[in-house]
Amino acid sequence: MSKELRFQKKEIITEAKIFENIKSILEFYQDLGFEMLPINFPTPPFTSPLTKGGYRGVKGRQRGINKEAVLNVLRKDIGECKRCRLSKERTNIVFGEGNSDARLMFIGEAPGREEDSQGRPFVGDAGMLLTRLIEKMGFKRGDVYIANILKCRPPMNRDPEKDEIESCRGFVEKQIEIIKPEVLISLGRISAQTLIGNTRLKMTSIRGNFFDYKGILLMPTFHPAYLLRNPKDKWLTWNDAQKVLEKLKEIT
Ligand code: URA
Repeated sequence: MSKELRFQKKEIITEAKIFENIKSILEFYQDLGFEMLPINFPTPPFTSPLTKGGYRGVKGRQRGINKEAVLNVLRKDIGECKRCRLSKERTNIVFGEGNSDARLMFIGEAPGREEDSQGRPFVGDAGMLLTRLIEKMGFKRGDVYIANILKCRPPMNRDPEKDEIESCRGFVEKQIEIIKPEVLISLGRISAQTLIGNTRLKMTSIRGNFFDYKGILLMPTFHPAYLLRNPKDKWLTWNDAQKVLEKLKEIT
């Protein structure tokens, strides 16, 4: 017997092969007359003190959609992004993190130095203040979802350019679409202007008021970095957060 034959022939399983197999299984079920698969994806326990039954008590949440998996597909789509000039100087893409089925989502502007080096949103000084706000609202950081308009750090933390926002905004929009939070809190001018779609809006006139973002309530408030420089305005952001808590209680 030749040497090669002594080894069992191993099949190379490619991603394409896996998809092909899944497709044929789904087609088999379809032929049997199934329109949906009776799969319940495991969900993490929800611990917010704000609701009794947890997220799954809210109609329509969690039904058969593994949001975590869909977010992972989106992250894969972004890949080692080179869609704009920010890719040249970034260290890490900062995709976002938190509960993929969050009722509340925070959207900042862009990663700073610490976020760029760790690949996680809001982990520097401004992030510590944001975490304190989240906890003061009665949540744990892991209960909410945190993302930014831009996934890469602008050099020297300069304001993002219009074309940089345009090439990146689709990703945060997709994240919102997947997570489907009940309320969005935008942090700072760039985030609010981008989500509302009006670059002339002034923070002082919009913060504290609910806006509509594709059917989701959007509350613009100050960016925590601004609050670190202007601590006297912290109470305004706390007022905004309380309005959000009221809404979440109403919706539950
Ligand atoms: N500022 C932001 O807007 N986002 C971060 O992730 C950190 C600081």
